[in-house]
Amino acid sequence: MVSDIQRQLVVFDFDWSMADQDTDRWVFEVLAPDIRRKMKSLKDEIQWTDLVAQSLEELHQRGKTREDIENALRIMPFHPAMVRAISNLKNASSPTTTFFCLSNANSVFISTILESKGLSNVFEEIITNPASFEPSGLLKLCRRVDPTGPQHLCKVGCSPNMCKGEELVAFLARHQPMYDRIIYIGDGANDFCPILRMRSQDIILCRRFRGLERRIAQEGEKEGLKCQVRFWAGAWEVEEIFGELSN
Ligand SMILES: [Mg+2]
Ligand SMILES: [Zn+2]
Repeated sequence: MVSDIQRQLVVFDFDWSMADQDTDRWVFEVLAPDIRRKMKSLKDEIQWTDLVAQSLEELHQRGKTREDIENALRIMPFHPAMVRAISNLKNASSPTTTFFCLSNANSVFISTILESKGLSNVFEEIITNPASFEPSGLLKLCRRVDPTGPQHLCKVGCSPNMCKGEELVAFLARHQPMYDRIIYIGDGANDFCPILRMRSQDIILCRRFRGLERRIAQEGEKEGLKCQVRFWAGAWEVEEIFGELSN
């Protein structure tokens, strides 16, 4: 499986892929379940990133602090096998592996969790929705694609806040020459667009029983999906597969 591969790229979705939960929902399940319930009822009316931003404002008005949010993130399920899988592949000398995180969560959620797992320095880039704490403790969140500016052109069904396919193509353009192999770890319906950009030597590690598995089954052939597909359910299986990706 390794042979002529010298440079490879590992692309990670975050929620339910690298992490064993969904950050946007978890924070509210821990700190304010009634807001979580409200998000569930509003999600078809309000764009998801905007809905999370507005829910974070409500959380702030209730007196929940930066520390409350950070502590909720640090206790979110994250499988030890995933930490091992990433660290071991990063440290393997051949082939060299670059890690890229591509997520619809936000920069604060992701960096807080990566730091708590000792993975802060692994990722070449983290492309996600921008967020930052204001001095008041409010976590301010915006869409990656500003709703007042030009919108992305995706026709595959990406949410207005970001087209993961366009972001993957832009990352590859920033990091020439082209990688010998790309491995993409994803679970959600919005991971379908980027994997359509992958080649026959590339591999999608698709988490079972979620939106991406359904889209691959229903649309993969029709949309000309070229990459190899491997399935996993638990992070220990990603660790097993990552073991095959280095010498
Ligand atoms: Mg996901
Ligand atoms: Zn797209």
